Amino acid sequence: MSVSMSLVQGGAAGGAPQGAILAAAAPYYQPPAVPQDVQPDRPIGYGAFGVVWAVTDPRDGRRVALKKLPNVFQSLVSSKRVFRELKMLCFFKHENVLSALDILQPPHLDFFQEIYVITELLQSDLHKIIVSPQHLSADHIKVFLYQILRGLKYLHSARILHRDIKPGNLLVNSNCVLKICDFGLARVEEPDQTKHMTQEVVTQYYRAPEILMGARHYSSAVDVWSVGCIFGELLGRRILFQAQNPVQQLDLITELLGTPSREDMRHACGGARSHMLRRAPKPPSFSALYTLSSHATHDAVHLLCQMLVFDPDKRISVTDALAHPYLDEGRLRYHSCMCKCCFTTPAGMRQYTNDFEPSAGQAFDDLWERKLTSVQQVKEEMHKFIAEQLQTGRVPLCINPQSAAFKSFASRDQLQNSSTARNTAAAETNDGSMK
Ligand SMILES: [Zn+2]
Repeated sequence: MSVSMSLVQGGAAGGAPQGAILAAAAPYYQPPAVPQDVQPDRPIGYGAFGVVWAVTDPRDGRRVALKKLPNVFQSLVSSKRVFRELKMLCFFKHENVLSALDILQPPHLDFFQEIYVITELLQSDLHKIIVSPQHLSADHIKVFLYQILRGLKYLHSARILHRDIKPGNLLVNSNCVLKICDFGLARVEEPDQTKHMTQEVVTQYYRAPEILMGARHYSSAVDVWSVGCIFGELLGRRILFQAQNPVQQLDLITELLGTPSREDMRHACGGARSHMLRRAPKPPSFSALYTLSSHATHDAVHLLCQMLVFDPDKRISVTDALAHPYLDEGRLRYHSCMCKCCFTTPAGMRQYTNDFEPSAGQAFDDLWERKLTSVQQVKEEMHKFIAEQLQTGRVPLCINPQSAAFKSFASRDQLQNSSTARNTAAAETNDGSMK
């Protein structure tokens, strides 16, 4: 039997079709080729801050997601935001949180303009699933909600607020494994209550009432609100609070929760509070939640009502939500056959982990951000950081300059930038600690 080893030159993209986006940055030995249908590179989605493509890793033929982080060095604020997202993606180690598998080798510092990150490729997301005709059983809902909370517990334990939890940012594979993605708006929580935080966060339908009411400071409870909205959406198969504008958004929330008390609005800005008090008081109508679907059992509604609480200080925490009996079956299902933390012995016995919902070992540190005072400085630090990440012994990857698909990638990216530029600019200029 002969084992063929071929030496592949960078740019030739061994194992991938000619014209593929990814290429090895250096010659390397390719293992014997495994016959397989090589799929073409194709765009799969657009995050808040960049385009995502499904591509083939030429080193092993594996399908992965390639994300371009665009316009990195336009301003100090944008370059720090991208650096933060990149550091987070490299920091995360959790089954329900998307992390970086690799970063493409950057060019020499003088030509360093763009950053490309490789992550695991998941086929779908919760938004696509909710709007599809696919049947969603009570078990599906439980196992999805369990994984959202499991990933979020990890993020919050690292002191990270996601700030854009929505169905489209919850990736799902064909085995129903779910991963939280898109950290373009994520930041470390702000312990100083006097520091202002931007309100230009969270897609409106999933935005917590304290942000809608102009709270200058908010906590991880904003993510819990978003999860509550998604839980309701999974049950009802439609967006829970689908309003045209932020004022109507707040109206829809108070129709369900009733008019909040003065005390519950203490985080709100004065104008929003008096607007609310001028209106005729509304009683709560939580019983409407039972009409969402036949899956809206007493347990489900009980948990949902603790997530959809107007006052963020009274809203349930992720850890407490995970302790709710509604999630027991989701936990069991997840750890019986879906997780990577437990395993089955050759004799068929399931060996369970001793920590079903692990926290991050340490908080995510953002002190480094404060020392960065110029775009050039961020550029140098980021270049150094990427070089450190590439010390893995694997051949680094780069863009194949001959790739026709890449040219289309780049042009789509231009279109994308114009539509998101407004949102990101607003978020960045208003977030006190990001300046
Ligand atoms: Zn497990």
